[in-house]
Amino acid sequence: MNKYKIPLVKLKLSEREQKSVAAVLKSGVLVQGPNVLALENEFAKLCGVRHAIATNSGTSALHTALQILGIGEGDEVITSPFTFVATANAILMTGAKPVFVDILEDTFNINPELIEKKITKNTKAILPVDLYGQSADYKKINRIAKKHNLFVIEDAAQSIGAVYRDKKTGSLADIACFSLYATKNIIAGEGGMITTNSDKFNKKARLFRSHGQDENDKYNYLGLGYNYRMTEVSAVIAREQLKKINEITNKRNKIAELYNNELINIKGLITPIVKDGVSACHQYTIRVTKESKLSRDELKKSLEKMGIQTFIYYPRGLYSFEHLRFNHKSKDFLVVEKIINEVLSIPVNPYLTKEEIYYIIEAIKKYEK
Ligand SMILES: *Cc1c(COP(=O)(O)O)cnc(C)c1O
Repeated sequence: MNKYKIPLVKLKLSEREQKSVAAVLKSGVLVQGPNVLALENEFAKLCGVRHAIATNSGTSALHTALQILGIGEGDEVITSPFTFVATANAILMTGAKPVFVDILEDTFNINPELIEKKITKNTKAILPVDLYGQSADYKKINRIAKKHNLFVIEDAAQSIGAVYRDKKTGSLADIACFSLYATKNIIAGEGGMITTNSDKFNKKARLFRSHGQDENDKYNYLGLGYNYRMTEVSAVIAREQLKKINEITNKRNKIAELYNNELINIKGLITPIVKDGVSACHQYTIRVTKESKLSRDELKKSLEKMGIQTFIYYPRGLYSFEHLRFNHKSKDFLVVEKIINEVLSIPVNPYLTKEEIYYIIEAIKKYEK
């Protein structure tokens, strides 16, 4: 028997969350009520933007953002192939085509130097992902976008609370999208959020989220829209979580720091680095390279045997999947092709005890030193 059983993701909903959900049920207002409005205000404040618009998932937030920017059939959106598939699927939902660009080896995010080569007359936007909680390089990306007259949409699903050059994620592009899914840093069960400083985008997003319904004349439809509304139960859970955002981010980063210090001198292991700010530390992802004693997959198996759950985010580049295979060639993605064989995300959730953290550290040392 193992001393511990440590899952990668651990959720804890406190008494306060449970009570607040009960209060919503008692109120009888289940959708798009006072809690959704309050959450939007609190979220906008957190990101330092004028507007936040709640949706029922990160995917619907991305779809809404792309759609209200006028992106559709025949258009191209440049994005990272090293992300959760929702990023690319949201582009497909509009009828546009995702165009993938290779990533940087150190931050795992889209490589800005390779973007311009992929811009065509059909390119409408760049959609960088803040992978594992660390923001992409928006200074360079925004400069390219400005030069070519493109929109920038931030996929901040994993990076709530993170900072890039003194600015919060959610405020780094024309429009940003968050996920409040059950495994993200701040959860609502299912839920998403759009943030922007644009009054125009705010208005359009609110309409698109609810069938284009005129706020003052509900059965007057001002344009195409879907039902992407958030429930009050989701909103109230997210509101309780959001109160703890600093605590959650700090805790995750403290654990990451411990890992960094302890795992740094192991041959063939590369610990993650944070550039230009503070990561939300959604994942702590090490690279197990060819020089290491055990291969990545052997290490994963060994840790599993010790009761430590790890995960490979992500085992394949998105360009390799049937429904996303356009004119991409694997040789365009040499970094992704290498990285997918090296990454291993180890537990970094804020509920880990000190004993568990050291158990994980010692386990990795035992196998790799
Ligand atoms: C989770 C996630 C999404 C999708 O969010 P959902 O709330 O699950 O729809 C999109 N992009 C990235 C990078 C994600 O991690």
